[in-house]
Amino acid sequence: MRLRRQYGAVTRVVAALAVVVAGRGLAGAPALAQEAGPAPPVVWVLATGGTISGGGASSTSLTEYRAGAFTGAELVAALPDLARHATIRVEQVANVGSPNITFEDWLALAGRIDAIFRDDPEAAGVVITHGTNTLEETAYFLNLTVRHDRPVVLVGAQRPATAISADGPLNLLNAVRTAASPEARGKGVLVVLNDEINAARDVTKTSTYRLETFRTPDLGFLGYVDGDRVAFYREPTRRHTADSEFDLTGVTAFPRVDIVYSYVEPNPVLIEALIEDGVDGIVLAGTGAGIVSRRERAALERVTGPPVGARPIIVRSNRTGSGRVVPLPAYDELGMVAGDTLNPQKARILLMLALTRTRDVDEIRRMFREY
Ligand code: ASP
Repeated sequence: MRLRRQYGAVTRVVAALAVVVAGRGLAGAPALAQEAGPAPPVVWVLATGGTISGGGASSTSLTEYRAGAFTGAELVAALPDLARHATIRVEQVANVGSPNITFEDWLALAGRIDAIFRDDPEAAGVVITHGTNTLEETAYFLNLTVRHDRPVVLVGAQRPATAISADGPLNLLNAVRTAASPEARGKGVLVVLNDEINAARDVTKTSTYRLETFRTPDLGFLGYVDGDRVAFYREPTRRHTADSEFDLTGVTAFPRVDIVYSYVEPNPVLIEALIEDGVDGIVLAGTGAGIVSRRERAALERVTGPPVGARPIIVRSNRTGSGRVVPLPAYDELGMVAGDTLNPQKARILLMLALTRTRDVDEIRRMFREY
């Protein structure tokens, strides 16, 4: 399995690249070889695996392949065009399919990004290569926990690196261009695939195999990455990154929050089992506008009535894929929190982080209005 063949014009000498493959930490990074002229911006690529680094048995193996078959350094080395836009420094943080990303990986990513922006004044931005399945979750976690305004851009691919018409190379190039763009600064964590820039809070994966899988329902994407430039048309209004109150200092584990999906005749055993198990929070992927059925409500009433104490916090999200979940008296009086436009997996992340700071329901409601 050779990556170079699949990437088209990769016969150019890889040594000409302004690529540094660093170990963990800046101290060990060798000096860069630059061509004459103004130095291009420095962009760090933190690789975590996924289809973008996937390898299949043949160029037509589009659905059967191994995620994380190539390293981030190999992906960068196979893409000489990157050097026209940025000086790349690469680090491998993980090399897994994104269903297997862990909280430990999230803490490692947040820690490395923090260290890069603190210790590398040349760093214009950071790109994270990631599997698309949970990419939106990592993106939103970092959107809430990275405390800098320089761009952090997540990128993935729908086709493995060995595929005919692999989308990874152009996605990676566009992600690097976005991370190097001064216009991307202060817009929170971004997701770049298919020439489109989406905001971490609002974007979601909508299709199993189609290239245009990342969409921002109702609100739309922020901008395009085209041949001429990285072009932004809007920016997020909710608190993020440098303006976030969430602080990972000393955090090594997170409160446990799980998601329960609603449907006709839901089985209350799922909610009961979570409560028995001592869960800290539950996100309900409710029907319609975050509606809770009588059966679910009966199971929850065991813990939702006053007094407020060590009971789990319940957030109402919804399974529709778009739209707001607003506060409603019938649920508010039981101490539930309205999940706003956050989908269940994002509401879970905000609730996990909220619970690292408080168990006060009104405070958590404020956070769901602000983030
Ligand atoms: N299985 C892949 C993952 O790591 C899918 C992808 O990256 O597109 O999420």
